[in-house]
Amino acid sequence: MRKRSAGVVGFALVVLVGAGCAAARSGGAEAKGSSGPSPHLVGVDVDKVDWKAKTDAWWAANLSAEQVAVCRKAGTERPGSGDLLHMKDAGTFTCSSCGYALFSSEDKFESGTGWPSFTRAVSKEAVTVKLDASLGMVREEVLCGRCNAHLGHVFDDGPPPTGRRYCINSVCLDHAAKRGR
Ligand SMILES: [Zn+2]
Repeated sequence: MRKRSAGVVGFALVVLVGAGCAAARSGGAEAKGSSGPSPHLVGVDVDKVDWKAKTDAWWAANLSAEQVAVCRKAGTERPGSGDLLHMKDAGTFTCSSCGYALFSSEDKFESGTGWPSFTRAVSKEAVTVKLDASLGMVREEVLCGRCNAHLGHVFDDGPPPTGRRYCINSVCLDHAAKRGR
């Protein structure tokens, strides 16, 4: 006889996660983020590119299929699947589309939702927040302040000091380790 408890636990987890980030979609491709820049950013002076001028075709040719689906088409990666979910190394989380500095490791916390979570962005300019009324809910969508990549959503149930929870897809982030002194 095989135990049936695994299915029950799996179901409970999906319910929990769905309530947490309110945008969970199960299934789909493995979503990844990365340590170090995404391949299309290697060797590029990311501050000198007009990222907003890039076309959908350019993004499709230069990003991974997962990045296109989540970061350019406002999708949601499978919870618990991102490589940077448990990344704790000191450094900066940058946009995996354009390399812009978005979040600091100092503001990252374990939310238990299955997505990287932060209490704030590194600066006022780093992200743009706009109302998103899709899926029958009114939420605050978080976009990259430089290239408009969809990053995730922000909620008011975060920990101190801000009380905010930026719920961000790992695949939309790269991690740049803090340089040693
Ligand atoms: Zn960006």
